[in-house]
Amino acid sequence: MQRRKFIKDTITGLPIVIITPSLLSSCNNEGDGQKANGKTVIIVGAVISGLAAAKKLKENGFNVIVLEAQSKVGGRLKTNRSLGVAFDEGASWIHGTAGNPIASLAQQAGMNTAFTDDESILAYDLGGVLHSDSNFSDTEDKFYSVLETLKNNGSSTKSFETVFNELYPTYCNDRLWKFFLSTYLTFDTGDLNMLSSLLYNEGEEFGGEERISVNGYDTIPSYLAIGLNVQLNQKVTKIDYSNTKILVSHNGTVTEADYVLVTVPLGVLKANKIDFVPSLPNTKQNAIQKVGVNCVNKFLLTWETAFWDDEQYICYTPDIKDKFNYFVNVKKYQPTVNALMTFAYADKARQTENMTDQQIIEEIMTHLRDIYGNNIPYPKNILRTKWQTNEYSYGSYSYTAVGTEMRHFDDLAEEIDDKIFFAGEHTEIDYFSTAHGAYLSGIREADKIIAL
Ligand SMILES: Cc1cc2nc3c(=O)[nH]c(=O)nc-3n(C[C@H](O)[C@H](O)[C@H](O)COP(=O)(O)OP(=O)(O)OC[C@H]3O[C@@H](n4cnc5c(N)ncnc54)[C@H](O)[C@@H]3O)c2cc1C
Repeated sequence: MQRRKFIKDTITGLPIVIITPSLLSSCNNEGDGQKANGKTVIIVGAVISGLAAAKKLKENGFNVIVLEAQSKVGGRLKTNRSLGVAFDEGASWIHGTAGNPIASLAQQAGMNTAFTDDESILAYDLGGVLHSDSNFSDTEDKFYSVLETLKNNGSSTKSFETVFNELYPTYCNDRLWKFFLSTYLTFDTGDLNMLSSLLYNEGEEFGGEERISVNGYDTIPSYLAIGLNVQLNQKVTKIDYSNTKILVSHNGTVTEADYVLVTVPLGVLKANKIDFVPSLPNTKQNAIQKVGVNCVNKFLLTWETAFWDDEQYICYTPDIKDKFNYFVNVKKYQPTVNALMTFAYADKARQTENMTDQQIIEEIMTHLRDIYGNNIPYPKNILRTKWQTNEYSYGSYSYTAVGTEMRHFDDLAEEIDDKIFFAGEHTEIDYFSTAHGAYLSGIREADKIIAL
């Protein structure tokens, strides 16, 4: 949601990406385009970037093998339907539908979406006192103008939080300011005490509506995977590219390839979970260290009946920021579902991973009771995520930390010896941290391999 807000108030001329035949070719499920060319590509990760690349490479005559460590495709496009409602554990929104390749892909894949109206919002302070519309929107406007100018006082060694506190000491303890900093910035970028004070609003955006997935974002990777050779439960542990043929070790087996496309998340690269032989070049290792990985966790609570406002977003401004301060009303786009989705960001998100379901519910209920009174019913069920400790992700998405330079995203994307290629949201300089960025990175790398 936040990225949409940046557009609304700070950018008027949006970059419109024209969907070229090249961008959409990988969405075409009809047949394989060209004769086999005798070259094998192994793709590590059956996810939106890897599957988009796989489809395009297959259409261009490559023998493509996709190795995925988990038991299903999708990675951070993951949907939990155990409560009879599609709870997206990773991406939920298509951020801006105008020119966004995910919008057309969603249609082809049968992913139903609903418009989420940013104007349908109520914000409560402590004691259930509503922030007036004028106070909310004035502070929101000031917040955006701070975002436009703070970088003028930024430096490569100072965090966003340090510069903000220096410039606006009176805002630091204001609950509404804390809410905007948390929900409009930390959610999208990462821990403010580690976020770059120069590059906190880098990246391009699509215009158009914000749309949320209704029947599950995993519909897209499932669609892309149709007809591909995807091998599940295959954890890649070593990639040896010291000879002409590349040797990929997975589950006690070694498979040979001419090219390898690595789409594992930045968190997995940081954790050195794959042994590259020879070691990755210094520029790549440096970029892996320098670009940050945020943590966002999501929580879905369901009730027998809904007791909350009939608005899309219900906000709460407690003293402690970064958790359970923002509720998405699921009922607004799924009228039969009495559920709220809420979030925790950055360190608070990481801390939730050590909390029991009961502790989480109690904290969320404390906020809801303060808004709606002590007589509100107890939730029936909770679903939650633990992205930091997920060994196939180690965090939610990349961000520009102190020390990150934009060229580091290109360094992450740089191929090695025309043999090892890299895709994934963290490799897409213009659209990092998003599903569409990941998709575009897969198409970009497929094009590189085809051009060889
Ligand atoms: C909480 C959350 C909310 C988000 N919200 C949005 C949103 O609303 N809109 C949006 O556009 N984006 C959102 N995103 C970001 C979006 O989900 C990601 O950018 C995108 O899905 C990343 O795709 P990817 O192709 O880079 O790879 P990933 O989906 O990260 O997949 C990497 C794959 O590699 C596999 N893997 C890892 N290690 C190995 C190994 N050793 N061997 C084999 N396979 C391995 C993993 O199992 C995984 O399947 C969100 C993400 C999170 C976590």
